[in-house]
Amino acid sequence: MRLLIKNGQVITHEQSYFADVLCEDGVITQIHDNISDENVTEVIDAKGLLIMPGGIDPHTHMQLPFMGTVAIDDFESGTKAALAGGTTMIIDFVIPNPQQKLLDAYQQWRGWAEKAVCDYSFHVAVTWWDDSVYQDMKTLVDDYGVNSFKHFMAYKNAIMATDEMMIASFNRCVELGAIPTVHAENGELVYHLQQSLLERGITGPEAHPLSRPPIVESEAANRAISIANTLGSPLYLVHVSASQTVDAIRYATQNGQRVFGECLAAHLTIDDSVYQDENWRHAAAHVMSPPFRPKNHQQALWNGLKSGVLQTTATDHCAFCAEQKAMGKEDFTKIPNGVSSVEERLMVLWEKGVNTGRLTQNEFVAMTSTNAAKIFNIYPKKGAIQVGADADFVLWDTNASRVLSVDSHKSKVDFNVYEGMKVNGIPSYTIAGGKVAYQHGDVVAKAGDGHYIERPPYANYYEALNKRNHKQPQAVKRT
Ligand SMILES: [Zn+2]
Repeated sequence: MRLLIKNGQVITHEQSYFADVLCEDGVITQIHDNISDENVTEVIDAKGLLIMPGGIDPHTHMQLPFMGTVAIDDFESGTKAALAGGTTMIIDFVIPNPQQKLLDAYQQWRGWAEKAVCDYSFHVAVTWWDDSVYQDMKTLVDDYGVNSFKHFMAYKNAIMATDEMMIASFNRCVELGAIPTVHAENGELVYHLQQSLLERGITGPEAHPLSRPPIVESEAANRAISIANTLGSPLYLVHVSASQTVDAIRYATQNGQRVFGECLAAHLTIDDSVYQDENWRHAAAHVMSPPFRPKNHQQALWNGLKSGVLQTTATDHCAFCAEQKAMGKEDFTKIPNGVSSVEERLMVLWEKGVNTGRLTQNEFVAMTSTNAAKIFNIYPKKGAIQVGADADFVLWDTNASRVLSVDSHKSKVDFNVYEGMKVNGIPSYTIAGGKVAYQHGDVVAKAGDGHYIERPPYANYYEALNKRNHKQPQAVKRT
């Protein structure tokens, strides 16, 4: 299979230039002016289009069993939606039930993901602790290409990681060359606030943000950062939503720690007024954790991205239909948490980031693809346009527009948090593994076309960190 993309403008995280790109058997083999189309299987004329690395969404939850139901997008519909939005790889989460063996859960998720249409990889959550978890973490790193472990500091009485578990697990990550990631919210405080709101008779979705104020997030973020600092571990914070958390990461990095921050397209663009909507369904459709914040936090997130304090953008795509959200009709704590976004991420970030002048096109590529590839150690196989890299691209039409809507999105969910938003700049084609996967509204890739992507451990970070941590404590010799 030889695919030639002609006449387009290549946009990488650091360069913009005109060139043709030849892909053979799934990888880029030539980038040059005027590549001949002899012996080529397919030619795409990309005149007027930008050729960017396919998006990498480092945070999705397809068919996640959660809060008594299962997220409506499975690995097929969810990855089709990804491709329709220019994303060619997702990193999803294996979330073992407490007491479930990590390896068993991992195999379960691998089975579910066999029908994925785009490439995928897995973070594995540490939701409990014993010797088997300690052993399985090594097997996952050595034999299955897992280099990141997730810790939910929220969701008490379910999957919450205690400080004791995080210390054990971060330590294990240091031994294995893996990176710990955290969902930073103080689960004890959330639980306390939820109970007191329910006691006061505030049972609707408007209580959701009240039970998870910004300080609940930043307390947990600061705690995780301090634990990582003490143990000499890097740290990645998922879905940073509060300005105080951006400040915590900035402070830590300026003081020599290696801390990374991710933010979500939805947190950048939607504010907490949605929870005041008089229509219960509309308000409940926006229930996710952390919740949407007052507008001033959005500015802090944009500034965090621009200044490099936050590096990646994701979606936390976790879609639930109205019927599922209705499980919490009488009690907001039972509304399944999550919104969809995997298809819209790039378009929303282009519209609200590039078209507003907040981000350059190159920064857009860094924040939607390259930085995630670097942090999760798959660069330049992914996130790059260079010879030898995987042939994953989005061909972007800056002159075309679309109105985002539940009526046209590929997700199975019956709601779109961006309903009615007009975006200028959309994907014309998505190329995955050197083949057209999406063109002009239609996903042509099929179930099973996606491949599992192994992510090796982080020799580099740890070599650097080990040098820093080299000074071992010494006992004082006494007579
Ligand atoms: Zn999540």
